[in-house]
Amino acid sequence: MDWLCEIQYLKGVGPKRAELYGKLEIETVYDLLHTAPRTYLNLTRPLPIADCPLNEPCAVVAVVAKKSPAQRIRGGMTLYKIRVTDGSSDMTVTYFNSQYAADKLKEGEQYLFFGKMTGNLLRREMGSPLAEPLEAAGGLYPIYGLTAGLTNRIVQSHVKNALEQALPSLEDPLPERMRTEYQLCHLTYALQNLHFPAGEQELEIARARLAFEELLLFQLGMAKLSEDREEPSGIRPENRDLGAFYAALPFALTGAQRRVIEEIAGDLGSGKRMNRLVQGDVGSGKTMVAAAAAVMLCQNGWQAALMAPTEILAEQHFRSLAPLFEQLGMRAGLLTGSMKKREKDEIKRALAAGEVAFVVGTHALIVEDVAFAKIGLVITDEQHRFGVKQRSRLGSGGEEPPHTLVMSATPIPRTLALMLYGDLDVSVIDELPGGRKAIETYLIDAGKRERAYGFIRRYLDEGRQAYLVCPLVEEGENGLVSVEEYYKEAVRGPFAGYRVGLLHGKLPAKEKDRVMRAFAGGELDVLIATTVIEVGVDVPNAVVMLIENAERFGLSQLHQLRGRIGRGEYQSFCILVSDHRAPETRERLKFLCKSTDGFQIAEFDLQQRGPGDFFGSRQSGALRFKVADVFSNMEMLRQAREACQGLLREDPELEGYPLLRRLMERFFNGFVG
Ligand code: ADP
Ligand code: MG
Repeated sequence: MDWLCEIQYLKGVGPKRAELYGKLEIETVYDLLHTAPRTYLNLTRPLPIADCPLNEPCAVVAVVAKKSPAQRIRGGMTLYKIRVTDGSSDMTVTYFNSQYAADKLKEGEQYLFFGKMTGNLLRREMGSPLAEPLEAAGGLYPIYGLTAGLTNRIVQSHVKNALEQALPSLEDPLPERMRTEYQLCHLTYALQNLHFPAGEQELEIARARLAFEELLLFQLGMAKLSEDREEPSGIRPENRDLGAFYAALPFALTGAQRRVIEEIAGDLGSGKRMNRLVQGDVGSGKTMVAAAAAVMLCQNGWQAALMAPTEILAEQHFRSLAPLFEQLGMRAGLLTGSMKKREKDEIKRALAAGEVAFVVGTHALIVEDVAFAKIGLVITDEQHRFGVKQRSRLGSGGEEPPHTLVMSATPIPRTLALMLYGDLDVSVIDELPGGRKAIETYLIDAGKRERAYGFIRRYLDEGRQAYLVCPLVEEGENGLVSVEEYYKEAVRGPFAGYRVGLLHGKLPAKEKDRVMRAFAGGELDVLIATTVIEVGVDVPNAVVMLIENAERFGLSQLHQLRGRIGRGEYQSFCILVSDHRAPETRERLKFLCKSTDGFQIAEFDLQQRGPGDFFGSRQSGALRFKVADVFSNMEMLRQAREACQGLLREDPELEGYPLLRRLMERFFNGFVG
């Protein structure tokens, strides 16, 4: 079996479940095998109920003694209570609203329960534990990150099938020489032990090997991306004077913006191909830096393209930049997928004829096979949404490969950025535009929500706008309100009479666009949304953001979200709502109230929670490693870098390593968000 084949063809999967796997970003059999279980239960050491420490996650083996009838409780929720016993003590297992979880447990049967033990010494409770039928106990039992419809058992059986079918013919992409040098086990051993570890040590060996492979693929991809960096470039704009551009701006650029523009100007004048990553916190003004770079090329007769990850962002950039280019006597254009064919044809014609100097677009720029008259620079905004391959395709129309510039708001601590992007040049915009008032952030209990609503209404009445953000809720998740329900209550209650929009990922793309546009155009007062608003949206009139269940988000993610406000002249406010009492959670959220520095926040997050959660669950595809943990594995990252360089010295095109090459390309195309 080709293990890069689609997951739906694996025994027992089929198209329906393949769709569910899609939600977990598992597309192929390879992905499934390389998806590390979220955690493992140590079945060699389940504890007696009475011995479990309170308020800590524990594994317990117990028999279901009695299931109480479902109870309706406040807020329209249903509580399921189940007595279980381990022979000498009892505990109560509770589930809120999850009939499915409760029904699964049969009286008289034995299960492994995994969850946080609460209650007191006399009455023990476990809320919403994971419950698994006890099969062959012993060893480490894998628990996968699940989605509705894929139980742990189902995933496990699929993994088993995949191992059975794939392992016999499995070729190891890493050459034996490399495995020996870095003391890495064979792929067969690694996959076997990742999913069904013989013990903790075996698991460590397996993980190390897979992590190394991932980091190597990443490094190879980065090297490919930047391999032509040292190449001479004939695209050398002589006139890099930006006086007219600066004069056309409605504000003065910050020192950091100017410095980064200088760095870019240096690249463009160097006679070598530019390949630069610009990192800058949300709101640091990356767009203007991109525009400055484009101007330098366009005023010398080349064309420049700016690719944005969504249509909304592309239009936003176009709206703010087109007038600037016009003032400078140049024409800017827009190309997105949803434009009419006639409009697309016209802009394509104008680009091919060289009449349009600067084009903003989505990846329609790639799919539409745009031919440029003289492309000199390709800029990608929020790079992780695009694959390397796609990006390089955009340039291939011209005779000379264009310079590339990548803008990213992902706050990667600097040392790590250098390690990861070592072969790219990195610029950092480490200053926010002056005169901007720092966002004030507050943490409140749900009990104060009504007052917060009142506060928000005051600003709406003054003509400002607000975001209300809800976490993404899977159906039937305990005690949490979905964004749709939240919306319904908001328009009936606290925001009756206001213009309220709803935005979430499951809406059709057209509808999403419509809502976002209405909000950006001031036709809506309030936008109720999930994290889909996270990237890049710029509505300076929006000054309040209230985030429900703030504890459910990663700090860096909260920071990104918060970056949607505080983008204009007005004082902005971020209100975090959370009833979580855990000291660690409070500390985390309070840190966000104190700091508005993305890098500082990233470092804190890293220290407190570990790298696993660093980027939030969905935030960044740029560093979406499945096994590798780049933050605690700096040494391994260094080794992978060394191995990568060795490999490329010996065989720059990886002709002798077709499998490695294929995986690398796949790994990078997997970037697409
Ligand atoms: P990001 O780095 O998050 O992409 P943007 O480029 O979208 O930030 O800029 C955020 C907002 O700040 C925009 O409304 C932009 O016009 C404005 N802005 C950018 N640079 C400056 C500056 N130097 N002074 C004042 N406002 C600026
Ligand atoms: Mg931006």
